[in-house]
Amino acid sequence: MQLADKLMVLADAAKYDASCASSGAPRRSSRGRSGLGATNGTGICHSFTPDGRCISLLKVLLTNFCLYDCQYCINRRSSSVPRARFLPEEVVTLTLDFYRRNLISGLFLSSGIIRSADYTMEQLVQVARLLRETHEFRGYIHLKTIPDADPGLIALAGRYADRLSVNVELPTEAGLGRLAPEKDGRSIRQAMRQIHLGGKEAAAETRAPRFAPAGQSTQMIVGADDASDRIILTSAEQLYRGYGLKRVYYSAFSPIPGSPDSVPLQPPPLLREHRLYQADFLMRGYGFEASELLGETHELALDIDPKLGWALRNRDQFPVDLNRAEPRLIARVPGIGVRNAKRLTELRRLRQIRYDDLVRLRCSMDKLKPFVVVQDYRPRTLDGAESSRLHLRLREPSGQLGLW
Ligand code: SF4
Repeated sequence: MQLADKLMVLADAAKYDASCASSGAPRRSSRGRSGLGATNGTGICHSFTPDGRCISLLKVLLTNFCLYDCQYCINRRSSSVPRARFLPEEVVTLTLDFYRRNLISGLFLSSGIIRSADYTMEQLVQVARLLRETHEFRGYIHLKTIPDADPGLIALAGRYADRLSVNVELPTEAGLGRLAPEKDGRSIRQAMRQIHLGGKEAAAETRAPRFAPAGQSTQMIVGADDASDRIILTSAEQLYRGYGLKRVYYSAFSPIPGSPDSVPLQPPPLLREHRLYQADFLMRGYGFEASELLGETHELALDIDPKLGWALRNRDQFPVDLNRAEPRLIARVPGIGVRNAKRLTELRRLRQIRYDDLVRLRCSMDKLKPFVVVQDYRPRTLDGAESSRLHLRLREPSGQLGLW
């Protein structure tokens, strides 16, 4: 098989992995043909570095052959997709070629499991080692970690890669047992612990070899099993706290033709994935706990964003006087983000905050009006009936994704 054909198969096979955030970025091509610099179909995705830069990565699998038969995965053993396999040197050649043409800033490399976890991990490490040591490649490398691999190989991976990721896939042992019985939740968490400790040691000891300085991430598949949003978010919360994860990515399950009966025929609503990302953002950036965002329910509301949902359930905490409240509480008001909360706190050191200040800062006025008091504005008391009316008024029509 030609290298370009392998690339077509293995870039397509990698697109289901969300643990490196990606979006297709078709560039111009002449008369429908891919020319120099065209990125469509070649596996280039966009990802964000820890300092917020958006970079392009070559996102491929080393191989989509796999010994495992995870029911939700297009590359499972029993799937009839076309298969291909790169040699490590071929991935190195492609990466360097794309890099020199300025198409990418780095590589995201994952793999199906062939022969054994150790063998597969060795091949992944070999790519990173060749890039770093033989070719002095200074670009970004994100390596997928095979959970059952020898800890020595994971340690080597951390030395060469900027970021490592181990996919949790399903948040419960029961889910894994039913849909991915060859996977073991304990090994996944052990690998995460090793990566977490490796990163901490490297950060604490100036002479220690570098270890995955961009940390680790993971992916959870949403809607392949019956795990509720509560289970998913609580699990994410534990991963952030226990293993210092930088990001948890949520990937709505997409049924593939010929999927087994054990997985749903329909994908979950895309809005569910979006609400999980919003809730995750509120946990990481605003100090919310999963239990606060869910209240008594097991699923996030689809029609309103989780921050507004929390505010409506906690009417006793509102209205918030923006001239007196703690900055932490200001950021929790629907319609005010962390950045505006900071600006408002700075402003009130100089003078009293007024309604026009909120308009000038482009706060989401529709959302925040019922929840704030400022020098020249006070809302009506938010009783139960008013709260329900507000819920209805601020509902987002399906397909429209609300911001806060
Ligand atoms: S181990 Fe990974 S590639 Fe193999 S079937 Fe499971 S999810 Fe797919």
